[in-house]
Amino acid sequence: MFGQSPDWGIGTVRNAANHHSVGGVFRIRYPEVDVERHPTPGGVDRRLRSTAAVLTSLLALAATTLAAGPAVASSAAAGPCALPRTGAHHSLGVDSWNPSYARPDKTLDAVMIFLSFPDSEPLSTPAELAADYFPATSRFFERASYGKFTLRPHPLKKWIRMPKSAESYDIQRDWDAARRTAYLRDAVAAADPSVDFGQYDVVYLVADPDAPGVDSDATKVVNFDSPMRADGHDLKRLVTVFEQHPPDRNVLAHETGHVFDLPDLYHRPTDGKGDWDTYVGDWDVMGSQFGLAPDFFGWHKWKLGWLDPRQVACVQRGGGGRLTLESLEELPAHGGGAGGTRLAVVRTGDDSAIAIEARSSTGNDRSTCTEGVLLYRVRAGTESGGGPVEVIDTHPRTAACWDQSVYPPLADAPLQVGETFTVPDDGTKVQVTDRTLSGAWTVRITPGAL
Ligand SMILES: [Zn+2]
Repeated sequence: MFGQSPDWGIGTVRNAANHHSVGGVFRIRYPEVDVERHPTPGGVDRRLRSTAAVLTSLLALAATTLAAGPAVASSAAAGPCALPRTGAHHSLGVDSWNPSYARPDKTLDAVMIFLSFPDSEPLSTPAELAADYFPATSRFFERASYGKFTLRPHPLKKWIRMPKSAESYDIQRDWDAARRTAYLRDAVAAADPSVDFGQYDVVYLVADPDAPGVDSDATKVVNFDSPMRADGHDLKRLVTVFEQHPPDRNVLAHETGHVFDLPDLYHRPTDGKGDWDTYVGDWDVMGSQFGLAPDFFGWHKWKLGWLDPRQVACVQRGGGGRLTLESLEELPAHGGGAGGTRLAVVRTGDDSAIAIEARSSTGNDRSTCTEGVLLYRVRAGTESGGGPVEVIDTHPRTAACWDQSVYPPLADAPLQVGETFTVPDDGTKVQVTDRTLSGAWTVRITPGAL
């Protein structure tokens, strides 16, 4: 079913394979390798909220002692851990921002355009479809960014009629480039009289969910090699939405993440079978829209500018010590700044690092399976979809939340209070010594000797 396309298979996302010459007008480059509807084992409804709120860490408070030792200085220390941005698609390098993307550290305006087709009368209204995505998506980003980013939606109030039947576009996940181009060009042309494209940073094209052939597998971001022009404005990418009504929760947050240069964190099995979620499980919406803890990784927040470099502690070889990590999801007290240290990093190579952050059952992660200190590897030279982030399972022999997790083996990946874990092959040791009364996590990090 999947994996037929040599262009978008895992590990084959390369420039040459993603340049489609389309009538000499513009080329589609790097269509995101998105399937937004993973197979759900046993047909479990992943939208069920976790009622097993985790209390173990609170209970463990009583049994811990404060570790002695120097505290890790976080102030202005992130520099040596800021991996360089590489040529990899959606590289997780954080030393610079790719200027061809809008940076979501302010208010951005998004237009949502609803497309109907002559062969199908819509059963929903544009307002009903807009309500599928907003304000939920804006709230997701508001929480994730600690209020630094506002996604301001501008949904059109009427349908925009496409010139051709839905069937004629033959909408598919691995879409024929010429048909996809025809669809995008027709959509922009049809909407142009109603939309001043120059006013918007993000463009969502939402197809009538009830039109024939509309298939959620085709939802993705399309990046252009040469921008489309509309209203004297360059359109560098479009978000094409082919969801059902109602859609999967958090689908739009995932797609919008690509608009801000975030990579796919899932693994696309080459044969279309097997597990999609082995890299990061539930732990970031770029891994799965069904994740129980879908807030963005601290590394993503650093890249996007939601974490100040002073909130990132670079733990250097030969250094290390005690550090208090504020929960990633916790909003800063009194609305000031983004709070204390949220991310610790041990650099492991030219383009790789181990990241350490605290995840708690609040905000975007209120349905999490497990609280605790999460460890993951980051590789700035790895392409989107190729595993740029891999969560490190500190409980490799056990799994959790079988009925709800997208990947139960990683659902219990975080380290709990009182536990110590040594990262294989690196020797970096992380010990969770305590949880403060305000809910922050005290850790002791000892980088391995290289
Ligand atoms: Zn994606």
